[in-house]
Formats: sequence, C-alpha cells, structure tokens
Amino acid sequence: MHHELLTRARDLAVAHLDQAPGRHVGARATRASLAEALGGPLPETGAAPLDVLTALARSAAPGLVATVGPRYFGFVTGGALPATVAADWLASAWDQNGALYVMSPAVAVLEDIVQEWLVTLLGLPASASVGFVTGCHMANFTCLAAARHEVLRRAGWNVEAEGLQRAPRLRVIAGAHAHVSLIGALRLLGIGTAELRVVPVDDQGRMLASEARAALAEAEAPTILCAQAGNVSSGASDPVADLVAAAHDRGAWVHVDGAFGLWAAAVPELRQQVAGVEEADSWATDAHKWLNVPYDSGLAIVADPAPHRAAMSLHASYLVRGDEEERVGMDWVPESSRRARVLPIYAALRTLGRAGVADLVRRNVALAQRMAAALGAADGVRILNEVVLNQVLVQFIGTASQSDDATTRAVIARVQEEGTCWAGGASWHGREVMRISVSNWSTTPDDIDASAAAILAAYRDAVTATDASAEAAPDGTRA
Ligand SMILES: *Cc1c(COP(=O)(O)O)cnc(C)c1O
Repeated sequence: MHHELLTRARDLAVAHLDQAPGRHVGARATRASLAEALGGPLPETGAAPLDVLTALARSAAPGLVATVGPRYFGFVTGGALPATVAADWLASAWDQNGALYVMSPAVAVLEDIVQEWLVTLLGLPASASVGFVTGCHMANFTCLAAARHEVLRRAGWNVEAEGLQRAPRLRVIAGAHAHVSLIGALRLLGIGTAELRVVPVDDQGRMLASEARAALAEAEAPTILCAQAGNVSSGASDPVADLVAAAHDRGAWVHVDGAFGLWAAAVPELRQQVAGVEEADSWATDAHKWLNVPYDSGLAIVADPAPHRAAMSLHASYLVRGDEEERVGMDWVPESSRRARVLPIYAALRTLGRAGVADLVRRNVALAQRMAAALGAADGVRILNEVVLNQVLVQFIGTASQSDDATTRAVIARVQEEGTCWAGGASWHGREVMRISVSNWSTTPDDIDASAAAILAAYRDAVTATDASAEAAPDGTRA
C-alpha cells in the first residue's frame, strides 16, 4: 500500500520542486475556484488513496505559491534545503513523538545534539536549553513564559502555582517596531497591549537605547525587556549590548526576538550587528526562515534552563520520567505530543556545517544588496532602508496624477501579476513600500537581476498607465 502512495508523493513533490524555479511565482487561482476544485460536501464513503493524493495535488497546484523557488521574496519565508525536505519526509514516515525519551530515544538524542550545535553556532551560552517549537511566535511565547517565571520568582511569586491575577505587577518594555508575534505571545501570557511600555525607535526601526534606559529607570518592578535582532521590515537590529547592560543593571530579563536576524550571529563579519546578544537571557528564532528547513520549525532558547523548564514542564502520573538530569523534550515547549521537527534541522546543520550556514546567510545578504543596487540606480526608485541584512524596502515615486503610495501599490500588484518574482507591501514610517526579503538558499545573482528587471518594467508600466489615463481625461480629472 505505502509503496505506490509514497512513490506517487515523491513524484508529485519532485515535479513541484523541478517546476518551481520556472513557473509563475504567485498563485494563479481564486479562492472560489480552489474551493470548487477541492471541496464539496464531506464524502459519505471513501476513495482510493492514490486517487485522492493525485487529485489533491492536481487541484491544489494553481493555489500553490512557489515559495520554494528562488524568486519568492515575500514576507521572510526562507526556502527548504533538499536535505531538509528529505529528512522531513522521514519525520512523517517514522511518526515519532518527541514528548518523552521513551517514545523515541532517537529523537530525544537528536534534540540533545542539535541543542548543543545550535548554541555553538549562534555563539550563545553553552548551558542554554532549546525548545523545538512550531515557529518564532511560539518561541517568543516560550521564552517569555520563562522570563515571567523568573522575574516573578525573584519578586517572591510563583506564577505557575499562584497565577497572574494577584501577582506583583509585571513591566514589559518593547520597541515600537516589535514584531506582532511578540505582542501576541505577551497577550497569551496575560500582558495586554495597553500595558506595554513602548520605546521609540530610530529611522531603521532600532530601539533607542537612551529611551530604553529611561523606561527601565521609571520604577522598581519585575521587568522584561524585549529586544529585537532583525526588524521584520528593515532587517536592522536593536543595540543589544547597550540594552542588555542597562537592563541587567536594573535586574531585568532581556529577551531577544531574532526570528531571522539572530542568524547574523553565525556569520563572523555580520555578528557585530547583534554584538552582545550572548549576554541576553532568552532568544526566539526560526529554523524555517533562514536555516531553510520546511515549516514548521522555531527555536526557544533560554540561557538558564531552570526557568525554562519551570515554565513549561508538566507532571502527571503516567508521564514516567528518568532522573532529573535527563532532557525530556516536552519540558521545553508549550506542547505535549510533537512531531520530530528536529530531523530537518539536524539535516540542515549536518549538511551545511558551520561554514555552510554562514555562507547561506552571507550569500543572501549580498543578493539583497545587489537587488537594492539594481533598483536604487533607476530614476524614481528609492531604497528606504540601510540594507544591512536580507531586507530591502523600496519606494516608487509617482507622477502628477498618482501619489507615491498609489504608484508603489500599483507596482507591487503588477509584479505579483506578472509572476517573474513575488514581493509584498508594507508601510514604513508612514510610506507604502515594496518589501523584499532574500532568504532562500537557491536564489542566484541571475534571479536577482531578472527580478529587478521585472520590477523596473512593472514600475514603467505603472507610470505609463497613469500618464495614459491622465491624457484620456483632458480636463485633468483622472479616469
Ligand atoms: C517571522 C517573525 C516572527 C514570527 O515567526 P513565525 O515563524 O511566523 O511564528 C517573529 N518575529 C520576527 C522578527 C519575525 O520576522
């Protein structure tokens, strides 16, 4: 049974990967057409698995986005190294549960190994514990739960037992450009958005250290300061060393959201962007972004394993454990049963090595700079960020009849429609921008050049279209 099915799945997957570099990057279907092709009432009786798989792949294809291809620059998406896809297949076929050692000794040992490799690679304290979670959102959650535990413990409060409702007031400080997932994680931990002490940022989105210091000095209270490595738009990192020094002077916990930016720490010449990061207390990052493993894979890293485990571990009569020294997978994550998402991470690190990870990040940064140079050299195109990492923010100047914002939106829509590449939009300091993220292992200089040419052609078309519509309305009103 499984032979034919898995062979078919392999063929379908290989066909998708083969076609991804050459196809229209965006999806080509509507919501309605996908619902029509895939939906209908819940079937009363079953169908042959091989038919189901084949029809699923055929019907879903127009709604797939070529995120695995080399010219997808949307959000911060990463790619999936071939070895990681293959290892992920094994994770499904083996169907191991990473919760307890006894459920899969192999997965438990792999998590031990990869924990050590990761903290070495990122230059974090050797003692640090790692939780293998679904993404950086849950990594933020996990780390902040550890932070909450520890700062309240120091204030004489056991939050796991006594809860938050009568606890000493927690103060949480974050930059004005903190990622929404950090805000969402705090919300789940009982810290509302209106309770945050928001610190102003500079033009690159970096927290102002002097303002953070002022916020820290406001009162004596159990405090968590949330820094960011890699602003999701500009790629810029907060002045982590200054923030850590100021926060630790006040007894505060420093958490770093480094979903992709933390990977700068793995590259010698980029590490100064996150200098001092190893002094923080916790770090959230993604494997499915810059390490290029398939979804879903995030990493919650805490310097001191004690608060990490205290915040996450559960005890039940049937959860028979070994002695306290043995690492148990579910002690470090907000989940119990969990797929073996360590396997693709292991495959990535084992195939790339330290030098290969650095090379992946370094190449993407060089390609982002190549993109910025190609676009920025054109008339009417402005690069709005310092391209220090893999993110490029582009503004397209409008005409007498079309604002810069409307022109930028029009260029983004045309680029997505044309399909050579895919980039999304964002708002940056009140201006509409095209946001380009280079984070895929397979992107080449040729991909960047072809994409830059397509983007510039879309800009010319967007401007020509408004000129034409302005001419079509001789009284000067727009058609
Ligand atoms: C992507 C991102 C997140 C959220 O990560 P998920 O993997 O989507 O859960 C958090 N912080 C930053 C800075 C990010 O770029």
